[in-house]
Amino acid sequence: MKALIYHGPGDMSWSEAPKPQVLNPGDAIVRVETTTICGTDLHILKGDVPAVQPGRILGHEGVGTVVEVGPGVHDITVGDRVLISCIKSCGHCSNCRVGLYSHCLGEEGQSGIGWILGHLIDGTQAEYARIPYADNSLHKIPENVSNIEAVMLSDILPTGFEIGVLAGRVNPGDVVAVIGAGPVGLAAVATAGLCGAGTIVAIDRDTNRLDQAQGFGATDTVNSTHVDWQSQVLALTDGEGVDVAIEAVGLPETFTMAVDLARQGGRIANIGVHGASVELALQDLWIRNIGITMGLVNTNTTPMLLKLVAQHKIPVAKFATHFFTLDRMIHAYDTFARASETKALKVIIN
Ligand code: NAD
Ligand code: ZN
Repeated sequence: MKALIYHGPGDMSWSEAPKPQVLNPGDAIVRVETTTICGTDLHILKGDVPAVQPGRILGHEGVGTVVEVGPGVHDITVGDRVLISCIKSCGHCSNCRVGLYSHCLGEEGQSGIGWILGHLIDGTQAEYARIPYADNSLHKIPENVSNIEAVMLSDILPTGFEIGVLAGRVNPGDVVAVIGAGPVGLAAVATAGLCGAGTIVAIDRDTNRLDQAQGFGATDTVNSTHVDWQSQVLALTDGEGVDVAIEAVGLPETFTMAVDLARQGGRIANIGVHGASVELALQDLWIRNIGITMGLVNTNTTPMLLKLVAQHKIPVAKFATHFFTLDRMIHAYDTFARASETKALKVIIN
């Protein structure tokens, strides 16, 4: 089969690779029909994730058809059209039982990064992919949900919802600021309303991204390159600060923006993956009763989100901006990597 193979920083190819086989009883083999590219794939390509070794097939988002299942797979059958969760989880270990799928203690792989496809196990940017623990890691797609809609639930939608909205404990009427209007931040924008957010302000320095944010439910947008960006946000809260600040960039300065925006008793929900450390003024955070959360997506809300997508309650199709065939994967990467010029949000490869 053909697959996108990582050869080391800055080096990848769409080339021949062995077709995956069932290795464990819980595995399924999926023929990948739709996949997409995540900012994390670009981090890997830059060499920011050294745990990913040359030879790895990249990609952790995908939709396809099951072509083979191991003897331990009971809920998924050959022929099912399925959404592949970016996190593989057994569903039975002590971590999975409390919903911490990203730290599954299942015998295959390691917790955390080991459980994201395309990291320590091969991924979805290929003609076929092996999915461990298929019963828990694959989701049958309702007929009225397209592949393009479903692929947004592999990673970005559950990430924005779980690590942004749920972890930030968005309550009815809350003012929510989402810093970073990339696909993940926009997924938080698109799902903040599910918990009743009253005001959803998207903050970015890219005007195109801010325009796109309105289509996902942002009630206000603020360009952070403006000198008075902070007072523009605070003006939406009678000067008190936002109830929840969701960080969806992954830079020290954007984390600091979240600290500056949160009201007394407010919450900061950090989604961004930070390569650099951030200095925290603990005395200030303590006296302001600020709560801070962070972590890796678990994808345990995927079945619920899939139902809402089937009911047309979340406009996921809007994430798809550019389309490529599988053999043009390298072009798709180029378009995605130059998002500020190409205005790409999610590039669809199918
Ligand atoms: P992205 O790069 O497409 O989007 C980031 C956005 O932030 C862009 O629109 C950019 O213009 C904006 N931005 C950059 N610097 C800014 C600044 N100084 N002020 C305001 N806006 C700024 O990334 P994405 O794919 O949307 O992912 C966002 C983050 O979420 C990344 O760090 C990614 O690694 C992380 N992520 C985390 C998880 C998790 O499990 N926690 C899962 C997926 C992605
Ligand atoms: Zn588990």
